[in-house]
Amino acid sequence: MINVTRSFLPPKEEYEKYISRIWENHYLTNQGPLVQELEQKLKEYLQAENFQFVSNGTIALQLALNALDITEGEIITTPFSFAATTTSIIWERCKPIFVDIETERFGIDVSKIEEAITDKTKAIMAVHVYGYPCDVEKIEEIANRHNLKVIYDAAHCFGAKYKNKSLLSYGDVSTCSFHATKVYHTVEGGCCVAKDKVVSDKLESLRSFGFQGENYICAGINAKNSEFHAAMGLSNYKYIDTIIEERKTLSELYDSLLEGVVQRPVSPENFDYNYAYYPVVFKNEEELLNVFDELNREEIYPRRYFYPSLNNLPYIDDHKSCPNSEDISKRVACLPLYNGLKTKEVAHICEILKKSLIK
Ligand SMILES: *Cc1c(COP(=O)(O)O)cnc(C)c1O
Repeated sequence: MINVTRSFLPPKEEYEKYISRIWENHYLTNQGPLVQELEQKLKEYLQAENFQFVSNGTIALQLALNALDITEGEIITTPFSFAATTTSIIWERCKPIFVDIETERFGIDVSKIEEAITDKTKAIMAVHVYGYPCDVEKIEEIANRHNLKVIYDAAHCFGAKYKNKSLLSYGDVSTCSFHATKVYHTVEGGCCVAKDKVVSDKLESLRSFGFQGENYICAGINAKNSEFHAAMGLSNYKYIDTIIEERKTLSELYDSLLEGVVQRPVSPENFDYNYAYYPVVFKNEEELLNVFDELNREEIYPRRYFYPSLNNLPYIDDHKSCPNSEDISKRVACLPLYNGLKTKEVAHICEILKKSLIK
């Protein structure tokens, strides 16, 4: 069976070495030594001075809204993402306002942001979909003009660099997910990277019940992560470059076998991709379903990611249409891509895919 992804696991002995340290020092959570060591390493890797390790990528988004004092109002966001982008806004009692996407890399269409701004708009929450950057310069310009905060859901961006800077260094806060299915993982986990030290300190308090030193300074939550998760993160850290390199090789093989066959996101200039996903866009939904049928028959399971377009979720009351997002989400899929996927498996997937296209 070939799934869309398969979590990377480090050599077991390497993980066990870290776990032995937990048995020696009896420190299980609450910013223990392994969490601190991991935070230090990730700070350096991501060139992020204001970095907070948290329990997952969804709560990272909720903390970001909180830390920027956004507790009500409208948040401009994209309908083409994983549901967590939208639910984090709703969970924080704000209203998601969907702006349609562009069709090159499927990010929020910056030319449509300003018409969605009202006197209730507080922030823009954009997503670097599949790890490809949004138009960060234009978004910053719009946000400055209208005095809005910018949060990037950079869940897919670990290791991706735009203009030689980590993609996580843009916006007031960028968040990442270290979930087991992401490029780099700590089983469950995530982080917030803040532009401002003050916001970062607020995030640090918020993630730990609102504590700062001995004082409770705000109504926080528990978004800490444990020593066991940090142990996985530290074990995987060593392999980041090999993980990305292997994904690159596999992606380039897909590229060469599928050239001209399916639509692909267009990579911008000055961008170092992390090969987080291998999305392909089919001619129409019927073709996608046909390809899925044929692949599933061989126990190959690509994934409809992202589907449905989030403006059509059942709990969204204001069903504003987003034609590009609705169209792309019906015909996009991610093909299997993970460490350990064999080149002959990629070739096999491409062969079946090509045979099942609608002529
Ligand atoms: C995975 C993901 C999240 C949520 O991250 P978790 O760590 O699973 O909570 C948020 N946004 C996007 C775009 C994601 O892909």
